[in-house]
Amino acid sequence: QHQRQRPSPSSNSSNPNRNRQTQFSARRQKILQQRKSLPIASVEKRLVDEIRKNDILIIVGETGSGKTTQIPQFLFGAGFCQDGKVIGITQPRRVAAVTVAKRVAEEFGVELGQKVGYSVRFDDATSSSTRIKYMTDGLLLREALLDPHLSKYSVIIVDEAHERTVHTDVLLGLLKNVQLARSNSVSHGQGLNFLNKNVNSAMSSEKENGGQSSSFLKKDHHEKYAPLKLIIMSASLDARTFSEYFGCAKAVHVQGRQFPVDIFYTRHGEPDYLDAAFITIFQIHLEEGPGDILAFLTGQEEIESIEKLIHERLSKSPQESQKLLVVPIFAALPSEQQLRAFAPAPSGCRKVILATNIAETSVTIPGIKYVIDPGFVKARSYDPAKGMESLNVVPTSKSQALQRSGRAGREGPGKCFRLYPEKEFDKLEDSTKPEIKRCNLSNVILQLKALGVDDILGFDFIEKPSRAAIIKSLEQLFLLGALTDECRLSDPVGYQMARLPLDPVYSKSLILASQFNCLEEMLITVAMLSVESIFYAPRDKLEESRTATKSFSSPEGDHITLIKVYRAYNDLLEKRSNEMGKTKSEKALRTWCRENFISSRSLRHACDIHRQIQGHVVQMGLNLASCGDDMLQYRRCLAASFFLNAAVKQPEGTYRALASGQVVQIHPSSVLFHQKAECVIFNELVQTNNKYIRNLTRIDYLWLTELAPQYYAVQN
Ligand code: ADP
Ligand code: MG
Repeated sequence: QHQRQRPSPSSNSSNPNRNRQTQFSARRQKILQQRKSLPIASVEKRLVDEIRKNDILIIVGETGSGKTTQIPQFLFGAGFCQDGKVIGITQPRRVAAVTVAKRVAEEFGVELGQKVGYSVRFDDATSSSTRIKYMTDGLLLREALLDPHLSKYSVIIVDEAHERTVHTDVLLGLLKNVQLARSNSVSHGQGLNFLNKNVNSAMSSEKENGGQSSSFLKKDHHEKYAPLKLIIMSASLDARTFSEYFGCAKAVHVQGRQFPVDIFYTRHGEPDYLDAAFITIFQIHLEEGPGDILAFLTGQEEIESIEKLIHERLSKSPQESQKLLVVPIFAALPSEQQLRAFAPAPSGCRKVILATNIAETSVTIPGIKYVIDPGFVKARSYDPAKGMESLNVVPTSKSQALQRSGRAGREGPGKCFRLYPEKEFDKLEDSTKPEIKRCNLSNVILQLKALGVDDILGFDFIEKPSRAAIIKSLEQLFLLGALTDECRLSDPVGYQMARLPLDPVYSKSLILASQFNCLEEMLITVAMLSVESIFYAPRDKLEESRTATKSFSSPEGDHITLIKVYRAYNDLLEKRSNEMGKTKSEKALRTWCRENFISSRSLRHACDIHRQIQGHVVQMGLNLASCGDDMLQYRRCLAASFFLNAAVKQPEGTYRALASGQVVQIHPSSVLFHQKAECVIFNELVQTNNKYIRNLTRIDYLWLTELAPQYYAVQN
């Protein structure tokens, strides 16, 4: 039985304050109990001893054993935050950083953002008193730009290292250097000449450039740094790769607790795994005993579409809807909603969690007894020959499938429903290829260059990306004007691009927009493109949704359409909040979104991102102007920015991507799907059975040679 009971408000509540206090201390008691019962609790002393003894320690432990939430607290208790030093914990996923920080703040009994905080892109909840700081791996990389010695940290824990995201991989290399430099600075009083042999040259180029950029290099060379402890944590049992990379570093294993999980396969392949997942949810709900359900889906769109289907079905029988609670969890969800997944369902009600692979190892949701695994995951893939990155839905690896089924057996025996036949399992890859081997590297190269690492091919990666991929990405950065002929970061463009927490192409589009006098429009564009999907089209209401979105659609393409939506929303927001106050206006806006088949979650997220990037560009001194009605100017700016993603129509109606030569098709969701343009730029390539381009705008082919001669004049 799960701990389902919510403290019920007592009926004779003569003293509400006392009641609240009792509830509060009951909750603290419960949390204390939960902490004590975690497998890791029994090895606290041993772990702390090992960390004291070893400067680098690898900790391997099953998911849910308590690594992420407990170890930082152990270290805090053991005095690792003396002198105001901070314990930093990196996560590959922002959802994990946020929800875990909230949990740990609660366990600690402090307000989030004080002693315990988190920092992720576009969202910072830390203060000068923060001592345990959860953050994304990408964010710590950015911090290194400002403080190359990461001097405020006494310990850095790289969590979820088995995920091998590209940021984790780069971070490992960087931390190795930082640790060495910090211990050197203590013993020999050496300064900065560690990070790479090129710091001096970077320094001199900085001087030539008037010292505008790279403030991180202007450190006192004789400063002394306390040694840095490094902890690498992983849920995969194979610690060898990490240990070898860190010179045979010590690895310890934390025992987990796992109950048996029965695995069920389908008899035949499922033509539509979403449909199959939906059916399985109700099958479990109607036929199986109590226990919550966790279904793994590949992204926000899938989650929202199933969420809707479930609600529709439940709305037909109000009695049933009392018994099933649907909670989604994915990255773009506002953080207070992410926490809903962790809250127990009311008694007598079953919770079904619709999650991306965030719930695979990054966060552990209590109460799960049934897992539904369609066997897919969204993954990046990169073709260096074509210079094309795409986000594809691909089969999981065996180890992912095992992690997923393991989620069902944490608190008792469980069941896992794999929505594919058993023979398919045998065909899966053993484990997932590290992301650095399958992504566009221009982003990390830009960051490494900004950190003074000029010799990318010689950088000590835990696993080297292919030479072809490095060279292609360097070429791309060069074409975007971020690198000089000598392959150094250009000034000011390269430095500006490195400062913006965006994909290099997007950063470049903002810098250009400031020259094209359309930065306001481009900011909206970048914010809207940074969220998964603004429009949704339920399968049974395709026509209705098309009619609704028509009022925004621009014959010029999706970018202007997105701007129109953003502006309509914000105009309405302003008007309504003047008229009727915050709560009511929010409700009105949600209704407006529903009527227009717009995801209000995504839109709010986009507004948030917009505010943040605007802060960055204003700080950088870019010219925040609007092109008004002159959308020609804006489209020319799109062409100048996204010239590497241009495609021309072919006689038979398909398109040819100019940079890669690939044959692609316009995605049905595009406003240009029915009104084909001769030449377009696009932002995304999605690969299903066909190669689709998404988010397009009509441009004039001649603009390419005019605005991107560095590429098109040479080519053609
Ligand atoms: P590991 O890192 O080893 O996978 P965690 O430290 O993430 O384990 O989880 C330890 C325990 O804390 C789990 O039982 C999990 O359910 C619980 N937990 C983590 N975050 C939350 C939260 N936000 N709310 C409630 N319980 C949580
Ligand atoms: Mg963890």
